[in-house]
Amino acid sequence: SFLLDLIFSPQYGIVLDAGSSRTTVYVYEWPAEKENDTGVVSQTFKCNVKGPGISSYESNPGALVKPFDDCLNKVKERIPVHLHKNTSVYLGATAGMRLLRLQNETAANEVLASIQSYFRAQPFEFRGAQIITGPEEGVYGWITANYLMGNFLEVFSFLNVTWVHPYGKETMGALDLGGASTQISFISEEPQENFNSTLQVKLYGYSYNVYTHSFQCYGRDEAEKRLLALLLQVRNPCYPQNYSTALTMKYFSGSLCTQSLRPANYYPNQLVNFHGTGDPGLCQEMVSLLFNFTACRDGEDCPFNGIHQPKVKGSFVAFSGFYYTINALNLSGHFSLADFNSSMWFLCSQSWLQFMLPKFEETYARSYCFSASFIYYLLVHGYNFDAETWPQIRFQKEVGNSSIAWSLGYMLSLTNMIPAEGKLIQVPLKP
Ligand code: AMP
Repeated sequence: SFLLDLIFSPQYGIVLDAGSSRTTVYVYEWPAEKENDTGVVSQTFKCNVKGPGISSYESNPGALVKPFDDCLNKVKERIPVHLHKNTSVYLGATAGMRLLRLQNETAANEVLASIQSYFRAQPFEFRGAQIITGPEEGVYGWITANYLMGNFLEVFSFLNVTWVHPYGKETMGALDLGGASTQISFISEEPQENFNSTLQVKLYGYSYNVYTHSFQCYGRDEAEKRLLALLLQVRNPCYPQNYSTALTMKYFSGSLCTQSLRPANYYPNQLVNFHGTGDPGLCQEMVSLLFNFTACRDGEDCPFNGIHQPKVKGSFVAFSGFYYTINALNLSGHFSLADFNSSMWFLCSQSWLQFMLPKFEETYARSYCFSASFIYYLLVHGYNFDAETWPQIRFQKEVGNSSIAWSLGYMLSLTNMIPAEGKLIQVPLKP
């Protein structure tokens, strides 16, 4: 009966998304006997670890594990004790750690080692702490979005038999905006050899050519640091009128993304004042300077940052940082580019007093105008969405209660829960 318990009780998996700005812990659950079906894994718990992302602990890696405890203790309460040792934990670190590794590889390894020793002392089955690559992050996000929306398999029921058909519906493209990088992933029918970042993904015996690219330093937070480093002056057209703040030079010039903009007289602890002028037109102009189109050749689609991308096609879902900003504009789901623009213009012209609504945190609120302007520029001039294709983007952060984030796709792939091989299987329906 213990064996039956093990087979018929739910199974759990834990993924830590160690992002540049914070770490999020996800707990997933599924019925043990149907782990290869589609849409059976769902998120049952999510916890934001207090404090900054793990890459911020470069000079004190020992201190990063304490804040993990709060979340891990809650996780332990969610998963029955007798299943702890059969529950896998994965930690995947993204662009914050990719940047730290480029800047100081020893520090990055120390951060990962500190995490490893922490998890070895936990009751769960620790499956490693890894820095994932940009393309992996992009593809796992695409897998999560389409898995949750049920786009990989179609299930037909007829008489007492269920056919699980591999002839999928159309998949959706995925747009992810993190703190340090941003990812675009979608199915491209243009010849693969034209693009160096098309990956072949095999799911349920079906092959998908997923174009994916991750733009480092184009995450929301790093992009804003680049703007502040460019401004390096009192007036910031992207901050609201009547808002002022003093930031250390290290805050915006200490990053690898702003290294080339570092002034000769760089004093890490010196404070620089920024005063908001709430000027949407000027903000948009400043944001355009963060994009590099000089690699553009005549007669070709203009590649952004030298990356040639197939023309965007089909519908897209935009999550994480895209969603938070859209939500601050009081928009959600689908809407026109004109509606986005007028909401952005309105938001950018508000004075700080009007932002002081209890629902926003200061560091997010002061930057919503920047974030909206950045998203506009990235989607329209970077990825080439236009008035016609923009409404195909759906801004959405979750499906049911499951977050759209690379973490679920990562776990599904590492545990082989989405088999690569084809199946047109017939499963008798349960009575
Ligand atoms: P994450 O959810 O950790 O992937 O965050 C992605 C980006 O969104 C980061 O730049 C965060 O700083 C930003 N962010 C996270 N939560 C919020 C929020 N509530 N409002 C605005 N921005 C946010």
